[in-house]
Parts: sequence; structure tokens; C-alpha cells
Amino acid sequence: MEQKARIPGLFKNVIAPIQVWLLSQGRCVGCGRELASGTRSKRKDGSEKVVCSCGRLFIHDLKRKVYRRALLEEVQI
Ligand SMILES: [Zn+2]
Repeated sequence: MEQKARIPGLFKNVIAPIQVWLLSQGRCVGCGRELASGTRSKRKDGSEKVVCSCGRLFIHDLKRKVYRRALLEEVQI
């Protein structure tokens, strides 16, 4: 009655919640540093683009006070 461990699927299922949790804590999903210490610049829609010191890009929604990963098209702006 032994269950075989399906590592790849499990791995994926674990990583996503960790990233969501890190973002909810205002931390980079890549290196765990606080995004408050990143380089920020204002965007036209009133949000902030934050560049972590590891080079990852995030969008800080000032109204909802949440961070999210920047979309590909936002990286270029
Ligand atoms: Zn980082």
C-alpha cells in the first residue's frame, strides 16, 4: 500500500504557495529580500515598479498595498 512520491508535481504545488506568501510579506520571490529596499519608480497608473537587487521586477499596487510579479510587457516600460 505504498504510494510512490511524485516529486515534480509536488514540487510545483509547493513553490507557488511559497511565492504567493513571500509576495504577501512584501518580499522577493527569488531571493527573499524585502522589496521595500528595492529601486522603485512611479508608473502612469499610480502603481510602482520595484526592481529587486537580484534583478527581478515587481509591481506594487499602492491602493491595495500588494506586490505582484511584473508582466513581460511591464518589464519594458
Ligand atoms: Zn530578489
